[in-house]
Amino acid sequence: MKIKDIALQEIKIPLKRVFTIASGSSEYANNLIVKVLTDEYIGYGESSPSLHVLGENAGTVKEIFPKIKEKINDLEVEDIREISKILKKIPNNQSAKAGLDIALYDLLGKKYKVPLNEILGTSKVSKDTDITIGIMENNEAVNLAYEYVNDGFKSLKIKVGKNLKNDIERVRMIRDSIGNKIELRVDANQGYNFHEAREFINAINKFEIEFIEQPLPYYLLDKLSELRLQSSIPIMLDESLKSIRDLNEIISKKAADMINIKLMKTSGITDALAIADLARAYDLKIMVGCMSETSLGIAASMHFALAIDADYVDLDSHFNLKEDIAENPIKNVFGMNYVNNDPGLGIYLKDEYL
Ligand SMILES: [Mg+2]
Repeated sequence: MKIKDIALQEIKIPLKRVFTIASGSSEYANNLIVKVLTDEYIGYGESSPSLHVLGENAGTVKEIFPKIKEKINDLEVEDIREISKILKKIPNNQSAKAGLDIALYDLLGKKYKVPLNEILGTSKVSKDTDITIGIMENNEAVNLAYEYVNDGFKSLKIKVGKNLKNDIERVRMIRDSIGNKIELRVDANQGYNFHEAREFINAINKFEIEFIEQPLPYYLLDKLSELRLQSSIPIMLDESLKSIRDLNEIISKKAADMINIKLMKTSGITDALAIADLARAYDLKIMVGCMSETSLGIAASMHFALAIDADYVDLDSHFNLKEDIAENPIKNVFGMNYVNNDPGLGIYLKDEYL
């Protein structure tokens, strides 16, 4: 099945609630739908660029695509691995490549009339996801935690890393108000220095926290490794992990107990599978996370999370969109995300996005 053409459609979808993390705030999901055309089918993928993590935005994705197209036009969709190898010659631009890689897997599923989870080797269709509470006023965060627990979510991820004292107080207030049955995880998005991170971990230890994500800047692997030795809470790395090379370094420095794999960081599913294999070989737990994605990107990540039997799932960005681009957004029942059993990603886009 030959690749005939690739088209991009930029989308800018307002969020229900402004999303603030240690590094900044966002009001929109500004992404690109990647459409790969063959004679019989169109495969859809999503690029959700992050300036903060990957140095990409919608403009850089649009700019790099003619180059990507030129390198792979007329290749066969079935050559996904070969295509991923060819695209390694273009540095960076991970979310642009991810959108393409996801669209190719969608096409493969459509051609064989099989859902992507089955192509990737599993018939499982659902997994529990956590839901994220951004940085906000402490009382507001407590109300939101309540709302999410009432919706049926069994784990909450609390964003921290902006103001140490306030962060500790917010985690305490949320734990006190929701009781001990709900799992709590925290994510500092590189916001602390070593001493702040240590103080934070010691202060929240009594609130039964599952893990802390990216307490220090991504490049401080030696410091992260030192912190890990002193930490009573497992350390998960997110921004530090964008490639299999990064994982290799994390492993050799013993800098993490767990990793957060996002398709937008790993240039799609192909490399994410390799990263997951290496992580498993070293007994690192795996979370599958997301950027600011619609149900299209979330579906791809769900199929991947099912395939690798991820230990944790953080696939929740579509809940915060004012409007999804899918006719059939990823279904969530009492905190559990479900993939659709139709071919490929199983996502049907609304007419204006086809
Ligand atoms: Mg994170």
